[in-house]
Amino acid sequence: MKAVAVLLLTSCAAAAASGAASTLVTRDVYLMGTRARLATAAPTRDQGLATLATALDVLERAEQDLSTWRESSAISGLNRHPVGVPWHAGPTLCRTFDEVWRWHAATGGAFDPAIGRLLAAWDVHGDGAIPAPDVRVRASAASGLALLAFDRTACTLTRRGDVAVDVGAFGKGEALDRVEAALGNVSWMVDLGGQISVGGAGPAEGWTVAIAHPRRRDQPYLHVQLRDGSLATSGGSERDITVDGVRIAHIFDPRTGWPASFDGSVTVWHRRGLAADALSTALFVMGPEEGLPWAESHGFAAIYLIPEGGTVRLAVSRAFRERFGAVQ
Ligand code: ADP
Ligand code: MG
Repeated sequence: MKAVAVLLLTSCAAAAASGAASTLVTRDVYLMGTRARLATAAPTRDQGLATLATALDVLERAEQDLSTWRESSAISGLNRHPVGVPWHAGPTLCRTFDEVWRWHAATGGAFDPAIGRLLAAWDVHGDGAIPAPDVRVRASAASGLALLAFDRTACTLTRRGDVAVDVGAFGKGEALDRVEAALGNVSWMVDLGGQISVGGAGPAEGWTVAIAHPRRRDQPYLHVQLRDGSLATSGGSERDITVDGVRIAHIFDPRTGWPASFDGSVTVWHRRGLAADALSTALFVMGPEEGLPWAESHGFAAIYLIPEGGTVRLAVSRAFRERFGAVQ
């Protein structure tokens, strides 16, 4: 959802479909502020191209709906809407917000996209800046989903203050879920740079997906076979702020109003894209000490890559090992 480059190449699908009768068709595009790769295994090249055109159209419409970089998007409209006046969400966005609220609650507030003011105070989507204490305190006070009243029945959101929604931690996942809904049972893979979903009657062995080195995200660190669902990574990116040589995460802990302190990466699998997206951000906020036990207790499939000296330590949940086998 970013207009700037978000080349968090934590993942790129490496291999493809098997099956004698199928042709692998791929397209590389730039969208949602990232380099994206779409692939499908189809009986003919023309059918494959048609599938990818559908997927691309869905992604473009999702960006038009969600991107805060576009003044005309629905979310930008919400963020400008007068305080105290209900704003009407269409049925698709209403479902999106329902999931957002659920994951916010499920993660104890570690995932909270209503932190637009906080991110702006730190200029997270710009060059980065340490805000003056009064600016920081004001931005914190104008952040948090509690400042948005969501009426699920009427599908309205009402701003209770000068709060703004940032789609950074759920927009890609939501867009991937919309692709899934549109494509049905054809075999497909979409890599949005940092998050990959696959669907349909894919190759039996799955799609080979790389999880990047936590420090060098253009470098694969390990590979997994993704058969269904979505794999999302949160980690350092060029959107991290560097002030006086100190790197500050672009992911914030909404519970404290400060940047998250973890400096590795975390990758999460979930059946649904939005869930994987939200969970990876939340688990990054929690960091491995809090996040791994939390993931275990909820049965979530997660793997932390923790830089330690010159090496990388892995912290892997049981559900991740069960799904992807032994990793290292
Ligand atoms: P990436 O954007 O690198 O793929 P994420 O999916 O984790 O990584 O999303 C991080 C983005 O989400 C940030 O750039 C910011 O826009 C927004 N964000 C930061 N912290 C949070 C948070 N705790 N909850 C929800 N959104 C967040
Ligand atoms: Mg995320």
